[in-house]
Parts: sequence; structure tokens; C-alpha cells
Amino acid sequence: MTAIRLAIVGLGKIARDQHIPSIAATEGIELAAIASRNASVDGIAHFATLDQLLADGRDIDAVALCVPPQVRHAQAAAALKAGKHVLLEKPPGATVSELEPLVAAAREGGRTLFATWHSRFAPAVEPARSFLSNRQIKSVVIEWKEDVRVWHPGQSWIWEPGGLGVFDPGINALSILTRILPRPFFLTAAELSFPSNRAAPIAADLTFSDVTGLAIRAEFDWRQTGPQTWDIRVETDAGLLVLSSGGSRLVHDDRTLVDEKQAEYRNIYRRFVELIANHESDVDLSPLVHVADAFMLGRRRDVEPFIED
Ligand code: NAP
Repeated sequence: MTAIRLAIVGLGKIARDQHIPSIAATEGIELAAIASRNASVDGIAHFATLDQLLADGRDIDAVALCVPPQVRHAQAAAALKAGKHVLLEKPPGATVSELEPLVAAAREGGRTLFATWHSRFAPAVEPARSFLSNRQIKSVVIEWKEDVRVWHPGQSWIWEPGGLGVFDPGINALSILTRILPRPFFLTAAELSFPSNRAAPIAADLTFSDVTGLAIRAEFDWRQTGPQTWDIRVETDAGLLVLSSGGSRLVHDDRTLVDEKQAEYRNIYRRFVELIANHESDVDLSPLVHVADAFMLGRRRDVEPFIED
């Protein structure tokens, strides 16, 4: 089988940190071009925009859209129209409804659309799902607290409408929870804290439940300094299950079940190759739906301005 020739669109932090090395480490796919206004990679064909890449008619099979969510829909639509397979970074869009036309275009064109949720590929996620599948779940507490100055320096798009603010990392927790819980859950209350000089929240307190009345609490906060917290604690009839470090570790009471290095993006590219080979798409919008619900139901609290430097 010849390797899938992939173009990365938007050569920013995640493209450099994860996509490029993971593509290089994955059989069946190779980096053939970059479309990015301000950045390029030595030895790889470069275009300033996706439109220029598509117009060039180059032999590209697929694109990975690593741009901010606000500009992703138009690019995905253009790439699908041009007959390319499309990988979407998370979150898959700036709205929920913009995804359905993309799903339809992929189906009609016989192309793969893959809405990735990288945290679902963390090593402890599938073991947690198996553990919880036949347990009685008593409560869930999520703490997703990190320092925005460390993880998102200079990213002005993240504070704009559609950039999601603290839900940009928080949606990773929701992507894990929607995978590991045996039943769907829904938002019942939310408070979103907006810095007075920003259009997106810096913190969010959320309460969810499910058909059994399960209590789920989530705290997302971008103001955490010192040690960072990406933990999900699930109280069950068989004891406490703690998924920590963003899904790298799984501890049941005092027994460590998983403690592995992340290889999320290698698994993402392995899955993309598999989906293309099988003529399938993979688009699960449930984490994005919860975020949209939080913006619909959430009470707004004004907090002090966020000053970057
Ligand atoms: P980033 O560093 O800001 O990179 C995004 C790139 O997209 C920019 O370098 C820019 O490259 C291009 N771009 C095109 N249109 C743009 C616009 N209107 N505004 C800003 N940039 C634009 O962002 P990132 O951290 O890589 O995040 C990109 C996506 O990946 C986000 O959806 C994010 O949630 C997701 N993600 C990020 C991380 C992470 O750790 N950073 C982890 C997982 C997922 P040019 O200027 O060269 O065109």
C-alpha cells in the first residue's frame, strides 16, 4: 500500500510538538506539504494557505487541520470538496451545527472525516472504561486546572468567541468522561468566570447528572500555578478509581493499574490510516455538545482582567 500523503494546515504549537513527530512514527502516512501563513518546515513543500495548496493540484490525499477552531469549518469544507480526507484537531469546530454539513460532505464524497479527541487515546482511558462498565458509580469529580500562561502563551484566538477559553483544555476531560462512563450524562448547572477584558471564560464550575441521578462535578481553571491538575475521580461500589495526569495514570484505591507515557498522537494517526483504509469516518460531537450547553445554561461571573505577561 502506498503511504497517504498528508498536508498539515496551521503550523503552530500542536503541529510541531505532536503532529510532525507522530506522522514520522506512523506507517502508512507521510508529511508531504505544509499550508501555513507564517511558518514552514525545511524540505517540505510549503503553501501560504490551504486554498493555494488545493489549487496547485498537488498529489495530496489528506489534510490535518491544526488551525484554531474558528477557521476550521471553511477549510474542512474546501478540503472535502477537493476530495481530501480530513483530520480535525479538537475541538472539531467553533459551533456544533457546522459539523453536520461536513459529515454529509465526507459521506457523499466517500472521504474520511476524523474529529480527533486526543485525550481519549491516553493509556488509562480504555482500562478505566472497562473497569467502570460493570460497576455502580456513586460520584464523579473532575479537576482540570492548569496555568494558561504556560500552556497558551500569546494565543489570542483562544480568548475570542469560538476559542472556548478554559474549555479548550476542559473539553479534553469531557472527551474522556463521555468515553468512560457507561451512560450519557447531561449538564444541570454551570458558572463561567469571564475576565472583564476577555470574551472567553478563564474558569468554569459545572454540575452534571444522568438518568440515575449520578452527581458529577467538574472544575476547570486556568489560574493554577505550581503543580498542574488533570484528574478524574470516580467513586464506585468497588472503591475509588482515579484517572490522573490527563489519562496517563489509573489508580484503584491504592493499586496502580496504569502508569504509562503518552502516545496519544501516534494512536491518532494509526486510527486515521485505519479509517481511510476502511472508508469510514469518526465524528463524535458529545464533548462539544456539553461545552455548548455550558455556554447556554451557565451563569456569567465577571472576574479580574487577565493580563498576559
Ligand atoms: P497555535 O500555536 O496558535 O497554532 C495555530 C496555527 O494556525 C498558527 O500557528 C497559525 O499559523 C494558524 N492559523 C491560521 N489561521 C489562524 C488564525 N485566524 N488565528 C491564529 N492562527 C491561525 O495553536 P495550537 O496550540 O497549535 O492549537 C491549534 C489547535 O490544536 C487548537 O484547536 C487546540 O485546541 C488544539 N490543540 C492544542 C494543543 C496544545 O497543547 N497547544 C493540544 C491539543 C490540541 P500561521 O500563522 O503560520 O498560518
